[in-house]
Amino acid sequence: MKNYKYDYLIVGAGLYGAVFAYVATQSGKKCLVIDRRTHIGGNTYCENIAGINVHQYGPHIFHTKDAEVWNFVNRFARFNRFTNEPLAYYQGRLYNLPFNMNTFSQLWGTITPAEAKRKIEEQRKNYLQIQPHNLEEQALKFVGLDIFERLIKGYTEKQWGKPCSELPSFIIKRLPLRFTYNNNYFDDPYQGIPEGGYNPLIYKLLKDCEIQLNVDYQSERAALSDIARTTVYTGMLDEYFDYRFGQLEYRSLVFEHQLLDVENYQGNAVINYTEKNVPYTRIIEHKHFEFGTQPQTVITREYPKVWTKHDEAYYPINDAVNNNLYLRYRQLASQTKDFIFGGRLAEYTYYNMDQVVHAAINKAKEHLSL
Ligand code: FAD
Repeated sequence: MKNYKYDYLIVGAGLYGAVFAYVATQSGKKCLVIDRRTHIGGNTYCENIAGINVHQYGPHIFHTKDAEVWNFVNRFARFNRFTNEPLAYYQGRLYNLPFNMNTFSQLWGTITPAEAKRKIEEQRKNYLQIQPHNLEEQALKFVGLDIFERLIKGYTEKQWGKPCSELPSFIIKRLPLRFTYNNNYFDDPYQGIPEGGYNPLIYKLLKDCEIQLNVDYQSERAALSDIARTTVYTGMLDEYFDYRFGQLEYRSLVFEHQLLDVENYQGNAVINYTEKNVPYTRIIEHKHFEFGTQPQTVITREYPKVWTKHDEAYYPINDAVNNNLYLRYRQLASQTKDFIFGGRLAEYTYYNMDQVVHAAINKAKEHLSL
């Protein structure tokens, strides 16, 4: 029988890789974790700037319905009581999100749920008979003209780089309308930000593993092929197979971080900019995730971008063409011996962090027969 230096080679030190590595090391397995970036944590990574934990790859708010996942992550970090209450800016006015009694009051001056419901019905009445063929028709049918034009259209068109009338309706499966004055974006019972940001949480998960950064699996493949009994691969699936069937498509983002000599720039962690002619989709003010009182502040403008091979892949474009292509790669993956493919890139799926934690725990337990 072959003697391997490690039980697991884990490609990617993001949340999936780190959780898998933790469960494996707890069972006495030896793991090597590599990442081509200069840091661990994948997209949850925070950079400390002027004492503020800056979410380098977009704002990350942990939220879940799953008590097991919540208990698991709370073993590695204390979570604060941050509640995501984003605002939308449109033509000089602010609106609460998600669409709730505050939003309706800001749009139409309604006070009671009955008034708001009447107004929404009036807004939707011309679109109720439509069989939606695109996102625009779908949104108009759900919420009517005012909400669509002020709060959905420009933002969505910037995010996807296409007019709403050319986007598939499945992107918007539902548009919940809340008839209470509740600005909490998530319905989940558990929510928060790890005190001190995500890095300490990831460090704790990886504390008993060997870690090598700046190592790209693709270029070191030959040297790494015999090092471990099993490889857990959390990178892009098409890249692993050298794009033999073609490239899976993504949307990318550019983050423009700025340190400002003001204590409080916008008074909220997240403000969306829903006008088409403002080039960014949102501004994040990071200190508000941890109720920071630092004398300075760091803001990030988020610009959607067409993805090319040299950009970070953020959002999979799960249309029929890409999903079929992914299935062909997945077929190859299922035939690849001693490999586990997991996480948002290898599974070509937009996962929230709690889903990634859940999936990695389960996959590790299954593989270890726990
Ligand atoms: P990643 O974090 O991407 O980790 C994969 C790692 O693999 C990376 O570090 C990468 O460098 C490495 N890697 C890839 N290929 C190779 C290779 N060939 N060799 C070596 N290393 C490699 N979720 C929430 O729950 N709440 C939020 O508020 C939230 N906000 C988000 C905001 C944005 C803008 C985005 C894009 C996502 C957000 N998410 C959020 C989702 C969250 O980021 C993911 O669920 C999570 O990061 C997925 O973890 P992962 O380990 O699968 O992937």
